[in-house]
Amino acid sequence: MAQHFLLSKAARTLNLVKIARMSERQAFTFFKKLRWEETNGRPVCPCCGSTERHYFLDKRKVWKCSDCYHQFSLTSGTLFANHKLPLRTYLMAIAIYANEVKGMSALKLSRQLDINYKTAFVLLHKFREALLETRDESLMEGICEIDGAYVNHHVRPQNNINDRIDRRLAVNQNPNKRCIVVVRQRAGGTELVGSVRTLTYILHNENPRDIIDVALNTIARGSEVHADEANAYDNLHALYDMQRVNHSVEYRSEFGACSNQAESYYARFRRFQHGQVHRMGQLYLSNYANEMAYREDTRRLDNGSIFRDIASKCIKVSQSNEWTGYWQGNHRIAERLGVAA
Ligand SMILES: [Zn+2]
Repeated sequence: MAQHFLLSKAARTLNLVKIARMSERQAFTFFKKLRWEETNGRPVCPCCGSTERHYFLDKRKVWKCSDCYHQFSLTSGTLFANHKLPLRTYLMAIAIYANEVKGMSALKLSRQLDINYKTAFVLLHKFREALLETRDESLMEGICEIDGAYVNHHVRPQNNINDRIDRRLAVNQNPNKRCIVVVRQRAGGTELVGSVRTLTYILHNENPRDIIDVALNTIARGSEVHADEANAYDNLHALYDMQRVNHSVEYRSEFGACSNQAESYYARFRRFQHGQVHRMGQLYLSNYANEMAYREDTRRLDNGSIFRDIASKCIKVSQSNEWTGYWQGNHRIAERLGVAA
């Protein structure tokens, strides 16, 4: 039997020991090359775009633009702006994060790097923010699958049977209940088996209006779409070549209709939810859901490539208002629901 890719040497291209031994100057050069990839590490003024030879003030590690005299640092305007930890610690955090294929909790990161829990919490969310901001939202083609799964829907039954309520009634349901809709494009004609791209959206529930919105924004018209028998997908028959599978009877119909790729995404998501973070607030659910989509899409990449990809995204994504001063009370104001988010 052929060896599984993840067991092969080609899958292991990241060495934590080497990163831990990096000097601060080496980490600085590493990030510099990632941030200004187009100019091979030559600083570009974020104010006027000049690539001239800027003055480098070594003590403060900032450049002064030779054209507009604006002063900027390696992390100015990025997610890591005003960073307080050494750059090497950020690299270590990204490397550990890249290896955690089922996600990781902030407590775990805080213990591994000996940093404050609050710092680890914000750092992990900055990584998730970078992944969400840079995701490819172009239309999917070929064969796609769409499905929904619920989170935070559990209502704990009272101890005594006489105190228990009818949990099926809408009025008694958990107000934090949300639906994660996943759309996956199946691999066709590529080396990869399974699916190649994954997009996730958060809805209040699986309803026809929101589902059609999600489908139109993610799947090119005329594509083949596989879904289960939920009523919410009935309207899609007018736009797509629909294939339905009745899950109460079978997982895969005799004509090959199935939503197994979507289920595969949920399997990873549930492991993340129950095994790592345990509790997910709905305010940042879109970020958690997208993280697992990223993990699924990069499942066959070597860990060195994943590490470089996440580091590059973090150093290029603009500073986020939601994650600057989080513990001083600067929170996201509203949930990111549907496709408008
Ligand atoms: Zn300038």
